Amino acid sequence: MTVFGATPLHHSYRELGEQFYSDQLPTPVAAPGLIRLNDALAEQLNLSVAALETDEALLALAGNAVPEGICPIATVYAGHQFGGWNPQLGDGRAILLGEVLAKDGKRYDIQLKGPGQTPYSRMGDGRSPLGPVLREYIVSEAMAALGIPTTRALAAVTTGEIVFRESAQPGAILTRVAQSHIRIGTMQYFSARDDVESVQALADYVIERHYQDAVEKIIKDTGTDPYSALLTCVVEAQARLIAQWMAVGFIHGVMNTDNMLLCGETVDYGPCAFMDAYNPNKVFSSIDTQGRYAYANQAEIGRWNVSWLAQALLPLMADEQDEAISKAEVILGNYIVIFTETYQQLFAEKLGFAQSHLSENNSSPNTVVENNAEVHQLSVELLQLMATAKSDYTLTFRTLTDYLAPEGERHFLNKLMTLPDTFQDWLQRWQALLAKHNVDRATAHTLMLNKNPSYIPRNHLIAAAIEQASQHQDFGLFNQMVDVLARPFEYREENKIFAMPPQPEEEVKQTFCGT
Ligand code: AMP
Ligand code: MG
Repeated sequence: MTVFGATPLHHSYRELGEQFYSDQLPTPVAAPGLIRLNDALAEQLNLSVAALETDEALLALAGNAVPEGICPIATVYAGHQFGGWNPQLGDGRAILLGEVLAKDGKRYDIQLKGPGQTPYSRMGDGRSPLGPVLREYIVSEAMAALGIPTTRALAAVTTGEIVFRESAQPGAILTRVAQSHIRIGTMQYFSARDDVESVQALADYVIERHYQDAVEKIIKDTGTDPYSALLTCVVEAQARLIAQWMAVGFIHGVMNTDNMLLCGETVDYGPCAFMDAYNPNKVFSSIDTQGRYAYANQAEIGRWNVSWLAQALLPLMADEQDEAISKAEVILGNYIVIFTETYQQLFAEKLGFAQSHLSENNSSPNTVVENNAEVHQLSVELLQLMATAKSDYTLTFRTLTDYLAPEGERHFLNKLMTLPDTFQDWLQRWQALLAKHNVDRATAHTLMLNKNPSYIPRNHLIAAAIEQASQHQDFGLFNQMVDVLARPFEYREENKIFAMPPQPEEEVKQTFCGT
């Protein structure tokens, strides 16, 4: 038995060709120590938890030993960072060990984040401080539990070494799992070099790995080419992903094209955060001084990012450039349609309206559109009230859920939050609209309980967990947060502090890149 299961890891990405990577071994660390293993994820990945708990596995997770048969690589990419083109990026502090075939039949990357320098490290040390590793573990696992596509955290280890940033901090390594780490920026790297052959090889690989069935269906239905179909799939995945972020109040913070995965998973939990008080212009990243990646800008930035994927794929989409451009324009035009549809549907559900309510009685397509527009208007008005009242985003939706609950089942309304008087008129109109669409309170309540989490990874608690771990080697709060956030929709009185917003003095105003 090997560390990563009964079979050695696969290296399909490495087999694509030398232009895509550099062979790179991790650099051993002084004293590996296990922080946490994600048993549930290990099982989904077909990995043996018993094998991962061994000392041999700890050495592999820290990069001190490379199990037999594994050929670790650092992958190359480029990207637009804050709108500016950078022709040469890559895994500067990450090494891909290989891929596993999971129980769902899909292939997943196993990557070490923070394992030492690579050819793409530029001036960096290739290491991660403990704080960003804990932040990524907590937030990425919380996203997964919320049902939002994301990279996962399989393990976190300490290195026994110090990493120097603004101050000296303990070092750590995260084992990250993704459906793949191929980015829009990976396509851009080859496109910028006019290496159409590599763009095509990569596109074929992405289709086979992530979108085989969907691409075949699009080709069958529309007669288009495979690369236009691939663009259609990625556009849809990004549009849906960003709508899902917004529905839970998530701000990614660094939506550079090198941080957007073609598989549609959220990646790079550097300066990200879930909002406390609702503010559409909220920015968390300390380096985002222009507000480029503010909460409400995310949809538009997503569109800008996928347009760079289109640019890279153009030479494959048609022989004539004009034809390729008109195909790309149609597909990119769909981005905002898919985003808007998803966004409106998610917000309707947050308010208790299932799509079936809005399209009942064989209503005509026009009626469905009108019904959706009416509910959308209601959610816009709610968000305006929330912005004015500076209401806590998560707590407001969860308190509204309680508003429909039987008296004895209310844990939020008038306990954790009192709805402001300014909401009274809106509350009446909301209930009238539920009645108009024949949605009874119990049905709406059940739907809302499944769509409005009690627990999100609160920034002030992440900061406290990081401080306890970094200053006192105490991982208690970190572990508790990971456990509570694994069931974000199940409220328990004993976990009340995880549902509460920060006191003014606890509020975290900025987060920093995971460097
Ligand atoms: P990010 O802002 O996290 O997306 O990182 C941008 C680029 O900088 C990527 O190519 C990273 O691999 C690289 N990078 C960030 N931090 C480090 C570090 N500490 N050492 C080496 N490379 C790094
Ligand atoms: Mg990155």
